Amino acid sequence: MTSSDILAGLNEQQVEAVTAGEGPVLVLAGPGSGKTRVLTHRIAYLIEKHGVRPWHIMAVTFTNKAAREMENRIVGLLGDSGKIDGLSIGTFHATCARILRREADFTPPFSSSYTIFDTADQLAAMKRALADLNLDPKKNTPNSMLSRVSAVKNELLGPGDVAANDYRAEIFQRVYEHYNSLLRASNARDFDDLLMHTVLLFRNHPDVLERYQRRYPFILVDEFQDTNIAQYTLVGQLVAHHRNLFAVGDPDQSIYAFRGADHRNVQRFRQDFPDTQTILLEQNYRSHQAILDAAMGVIDRNPGRIRKQLFSKDTEGPLLVLKEAYNEDNEAQFIIDTIIDLTNRGEYGMGDFAIMYRTNAQSRALEEAFLRAGIPYRLVGATRFYARREVKDVLAFLRLIHNPSDIVSLQRVINLPPRGIGQKTQQTLDAWAQELDVTSGEALLYLLDEDPEDAPFSGRSRSTLARFAELLRSWLEQRDTLTPVELLSLVLEDTAYLNYLDDGSADGQSRVENVLELRGVASGYDGLDLTTFLEEVSLVADTDTRDDDTQAPTLLTLHSAKGLEFPVVFITGLEEGVLPHSRSIEAVEESADSSAIQEERRLLYVGITRTEQRLYMLYTFRRSLYGYSDTNRPSRFLYDIPESVFEYSDLRQRGQATTDARAYREMTTWAQTTTPRPPRSSKTKPARFKAGTVVWHKKYGEGVVVGSRARGDIEEVNVLFPGGSGEKTIMADFLKPVDQD
Ligand code: ATP
Ligand code: MG
Repeated sequence: MTSSDILAGLNEQQVEAVTAGEGPVLVLAGPGSGKTRVLTHRIAYLIEKHGVRPWHIMAVTFTNKAAREMENRIVGLLGDSGKIDGLSIGTFHATCARILRREADFTPPFSSSYTIFDTADQLAAMKRALADLNLDPKKNTPNSMLSRVSAVKNELLGPGDVAANDYRAEIFQRVYEHYNSLLRASNARDFDDLLMHTVLLFRNHPDVLERYQRRYPFILVDEFQDTNIAQYTLVGQLVAHHRNLFAVGDPDQSIYAFRGADHRNVQRFRQDFPDTQTILLEQNYRSHQAILDAAMGVIDRNPGRIRKQLFSKDTEGPLLVLKEAYNEDNEAQFIIDTIIDLTNRGEYGMGDFAIMYRTNAQSRALEEAFLRAGIPYRLVGATRFYARREVKDVLAFLRLIHNPSDIVSLQRVINLPPRGIGQKTQQTLDAWAQELDVTSGEALLYLLDEDPEDAPFSGRSRSTLARFAELLRSWLEQRDTLTPVELLSLVLEDTAYLNYLDDGSADGQSRVENVLELRGVASGYDGLDLTTFLEEVSLVADTDTRDDDTQAPTLLTLHSAKGLEFPVVFITGLEEGVLPHSRSIEAVEESADSSAIQEERRLLYVGITRTEQRLYMLYTFRRSLYGYSDTNRPSRFLYDIPESVFEYSDLRQRGQATTDARAYREMTTWAQTTTPRPPRSSKTKPARFKAGTVVWHKKYGEGVVVGSRARGDIEEVNVLFPGGSGEKTIMADFLKPVDQD
């Protein structure tokens, strides 16, 4: 393999990026234009052409899966896996975790065998911290505290750096401090610590930093628009001397603001490195033009962005389908029918399909439809609906009511939400039940009903046990008269379980949504008994685990679709309140903050641009989500897509489409104009290119300007190219006037 083979199959601009010299390089380009491909080829090129040692290269990807794929591609390009020995490819977190293990001598008290705390561990530590400080976990919920801790860590603020200027801020500072000290005592770091501690290590030990700067003279970062402050700082430290940073990204695809990502880092980069060579990639290789036109329609309405023209040479692809389904079950059925139809025709294999949605709770109806149809599927990025903790919890209550001898369910719920029945009391209960030769549940009811004198419990634990037994007794008495959904609601009410889940964090909110979704499922069993409900649900849950490398349609959230591509894409739930999410709509209504709506737009943009060939967009007339059934209006974003891209559109058939469109336009325009943001120059610069001017374009050669439109800082020029290319609309930056003297 030679370096020219590595460059084969790349277009001119891509070659320019792959072969760019030393110094900071920023590749800014739309989806599917080959950013990831360019980054991959550049690594191969550095190794093959410039003899760069693989261990001198650090590449950062957004997921671990993407890292493995990139590694395989590079091996493919170099033809020998030995040629990448020592190459460092991984996420920021994985890279930092390794550095911290290696440099443990510099980061006391953490040793090289430190633990990485996952979410559950973090929660336990936070609960302990609140308890130690005698703080009421209802007022300062563990999850909301953890979200705040995460946010400040991503901004590299330690406990001493956060303001403590009022009572609540001071409480937070103390909690943060103590939480950290508990982690230290456990020789443990949370996810955000991995980044922050590495930055601090480099800050406090310039000699260590220097070693890494020398070790990694070439740094490449994919999906740069989704870096947070900590990651941006880390990159800055590593490249400070050699300045060989090669970053690729697309600000329009920044969708992780809720994790601290800041797409302004792209702008910051150019300020911090004024000599940055910026390379734009024009052509899209993933999608055909109709898909790109739909994507542009959606994203072009975001304010304050540099407008990009997405173009594909492929103008022949199948037009899009915009379909209204009556409800989420019909939506799922339409998807199944389409998949069966397309595979029967032999056009696609089962692995070619992706079904995307805004929130995890939407996967339930889809999963069930696939199970009913007997089609295996792959679920990305989220715990399967029935495997989720909160869903299991609520089902455990119902199982216990169904069968009070069920010790597994009893153990799961006896202290849920925490009601003071500790591990020791539970053990005593189990031992006592054994003595009585009954199950623990039965012993519990015996304790309540008979109040035996010889029960082995202290006064306090006896009364907490009796109180839980009372709950259970009252549920059992109503078991045969209530429907499954009534029982479920009764349990939620008696235990205040939703309050317990809803701690103000986004994570808590999504758990509540999942329980409400389960309640929606239960409401479908009116007229049937609890036994039937539980049996059917457990059958779904059992067949739920499936082999992941089968060729099967992929179910995934729009967030986890980033960077991926599929021949056929279904985007579901295109309704007001779902996409855009109701939280984002509220932000506009309550505080005129449209930034969340803008992020929803980017999310849909990411979804649309995953498509290679066929895109189906779906909305329902009525959707049951979170246990409520409601009629919905089609998403405002749909009205921004030009009708000409659709082969079939239910929206076109709906008479009121235009009125709705106007209402939405007014609403969004209002939101955008009332949002405080830096004033944009309303004065449009005069067009640089006048009709008749002869210009030169890299690809099309010489042409004549036939018209030009300037909008803000962007000028779009219509050029007629005599060489058979015809008339094109091209951004002024890509044209040079030809001197005609
Ligand atoms: P995203 O913004 O969605 O991450 P991207 O800019 O990273 O997209 P890639 O994933 O690198 O785009 O490329 C999109 C698709 O186009 C891939 O299948 C890639 O192999 C293909 N591709 C890119 N450049 C070329 C080219 N010059 N010739 C043929 N195919 C190409
Ligand atoms: Mg990419």
